[in-house]
Amino acid sequence: MKCRLNGAEAMSNPLSIIIEVAVPLPLDSTFHYRVPASLARQAELGRRVLVPFGKRKVTAYVLGHAATSEHQLVDILDVLDEQPLFTPQELKFYRWAAAYYLHPLGEILKAALPAGINQQSGRKGAAVTPGTAPAELLTGGQRIKTETVYRLTPGATVERSPRGKAALLLDHFRTGGEYSATELRRLFADCTAPLRRLAELGLVHSRQREVYRDPFKDVIFDRDAPLPLNPEQSAALHQISDAMAAGRFQPFLLFGVTGSGKTEVYLQAIAQLLPLGKTALVLVPEIALTPQLVNRFKRRFDCGIAVLHSGLSTGERYDEWRRIRRGEVSIVIGARSAIFAPLERLGIIVVDEEHEGSYKQNEGFRYNARDLALVRGKMAHACVVLGSATPQVTTWHAAHAGQVTVLPLPHRVNGQPLPRAEIIDMRQRRGELIMPPLAAALTDNLAAGGQSLLFLNRRGFATWLTCAECGQVLRCPNCAVTLTYHQRRNRHCCHYCDYSIPAPSVCPACNGPVTHFGIGTEQVEARLRELFPAARIDRMDRDTTSGKGSHSRILQRVAERQTDILIGTQMVAKGHDFPGITLVGILSVESTLNIPDFRSAERTFQLITQLMGRAGRGSEPGKVMVQSLNPEHYALTFSCGSEIDGFYRCEVDFRREAGYPPFAFLAALYLTGTAGEAVEREARLAADKLLAVRRRAGTRLEILGPAPAPLAKLRGRFRWQILLKSRNRTELHHLLVDFRSAYLAPAGIRLQIDVDPADL
Ligand code: ADP
Ligand code: ZN
Repeated sequence: MKCRLNGAEAMSNPLSIIIEVAVPLPLDSTFHYRVPASLARQAELGRRVLVPFGKRKVTAYVLGHAATSEHQLVDILDVLDEQPLFTPQELKFYRWAAAYYLHPLGEILKAALPAGINQQSGRKGAAVTPGTAPAELLTGGQRIKTETVYRLTPGATVERSPRGKAALLLDHFRTGGEYSATELRRLFADCTAPLRRLAELGLVHSRQREVYRDPFKDVIFDRDAPLPLNPEQSAALHQISDAMAAGRFQPFLLFGVTGSGKTEVYLQAIAQLLPLGKTALVLVPEIALTPQLVNRFKRRFDCGIAVLHSGLSTGERYDEWRRIRRGEVSIVIGARSAIFAPLERLGIIVVDEEHEGSYKQNEGFRYNARDLALVRGKMAHACVVLGSATPQVTTWHAAHAGQVTVLPLPHRVNGQPLPRAEIIDMRQRRGELIMPPLAAALTDNLAAGGQSLLFLNRRGFATWLTCAECGQVLRCPNCAVTLTYHQRRNRHCCHYCDYSIPAPSVCPACNGPVTHFGIGTEQVEARLRELFPAARIDRMDRDTTSGKGSHSRILQRVAERQTDILIGTQMVAKGHDFPGITLVGILSVESTLNIPDFRSAERTFQLITQLMGRAGRGSEPGKVMVQSLNPEHYALTFSCGSEIDGFYRCEVDFRREAGYPPFAFLAALYLTGTAGEAVEREARLAADKLLAVRRRAGTRLEILGPAPAPLAKLRGRFRWQILLKSRNRTELHHLLVDFRSAYLAPAGIRLQIDVDPADL
């Protein structure tokens, strides 16, 4: 009754149908348009519409209806989708993200949708008649793949029944169902002619059926059953079950080393949800999204599972998205961007390896999927399980403050002890790549038939001078981060606040000689070949893995024990299982310890602990050796001593004292452009503007910089950064909002805001 009245009113008064839309352009505001009566019923929330925008026509996303508008309104031109692309709940989540990350909502919506949809922008799909195929398409049929299928025509009769193969075929159709030519061929060999005959007789007709591009189409999965859990796994599952049964948002930290059975807990928690009609979202770091992991889920569950990662073709990604949107999928496994998967009735979000840097998007819409998982979980009343052996310092602190429930899994399922770890002092032995204790361990391991991994972290852009005697590096007195050496200026500079000092010729602490630091994998390989001429040595870094498939070939050789010593960079530290590797050597932990980032100690601790967790997972216990110029550093001593909590306590004290997360909140502003001097000048103007805005707001928030960003030049653009730091998140947010409305970057310069930046 009421509905009809409203509809009638709307028809009689065109002004009453006003919609609010977002456009995928770098603009902060949303816009109002009028909907002509002919389109009124279709212009609902979540669909895209075509609107005139200045002199252009752009695709816009309908956010909802507006009661009135004070602006002069223009009509929309068209409605582009048959059905909504997102739900009101999802829109609420996107609006939250837009406000929090200070990023235009329209660009976020565009980024959240699969490219296959965005490519259709501005084109209306083929007219769709309900009940005919492809009927329930969400959008225009540009990229949808179809196949021809045949079925019995109801009620059709003929005078003379067909004979031979055509008769067999007809009998088959009479049992019901529809079949593609491929399916029929499998049953009846070649049947093109009899099929055509049946169609001519009007006994069988065809239609177009949509098919999904499924990367796992031809894979047959064995079934497997849940494993009986050990007491710690049971206790963890129990707590998660309680939260899920109550339908409440609760964040958990599943705190366990690799091999402690975390994945088994995820699987069994998800198994409890599925009969309730709920869904699960599982986020993993891109590199960990291996076929083995996907297989574990596919073997365990019969339900629809979608897999989202960067290796999918546009079509596959689009199809996976549509399967999810239509509710045909109960589990989504994916990397970072899967946080936007259109799953409804979410019961659990898992963020595996929650400490991984790959959850942070560092371009365009700069979000953190791990953080957004908590927001989405809260909105959906779902529980969120963060899994890690080395959680972020902020997560550990939140757990200690009682905001996150800790579920400890302190032991490996197979009962194997953690490997022993040893720190090797590199001071006094300048230029030695492989110190005598490591060389001796390699010799022993080779003789015993074991495999070894030599790890070398390399970050091309960070260089610093280090004292060969005492291992000291120069630190900023204001920011407690490593100073980076700039050759052009011959100075050491802080990337946070731009403090700098001339490059010293001797170490300021001990008067020892200073040297450049930086070794390459090629050098290490050459030295190893000298030391171990008979060993089979392989190298995995950006140079050796640029060819397609070379990455997996290297791993394959290791798995088949054709490699004795593998030299690797960051790539090998994550996600891979090397059961045969019994010795891990970290050639110089300095390359991680000295990155100019306040998280350098956290990163070092995580690296060593993760490598320890991966050494010797076979029958042999493993051994880890860490070469360092800073052998007494707490990140080393605690990780090598497996004193996990000891490290976190120490690091939390440092963060509190220096004013870093979780005790302060950060935002970085980047100014980039192709003309170096113009960018620098603009960065100074922007910093002045920030000072003025801060003065007006009367806050004490810290403004550091401008300074050249650690990646001072990226893809032809010069980059300067300004860092904002505050103990109060609201204060920081307000300053950013005020600044953004007061500042407009001139032509040729781009301003980017990074809230909770990761790599500074
Ligand atoms: P994580 O995710 O912490 O690395 P997994 O769940 O992958 O740990 O478990 C490591 C190995 O132990 C896997 O091969 C898994 O099948 C096995 N596993 C896990 N839980 C159990 C259990 N309760 N009983 C026997 N084997 C288990
Ligand atoms: Zn500084």
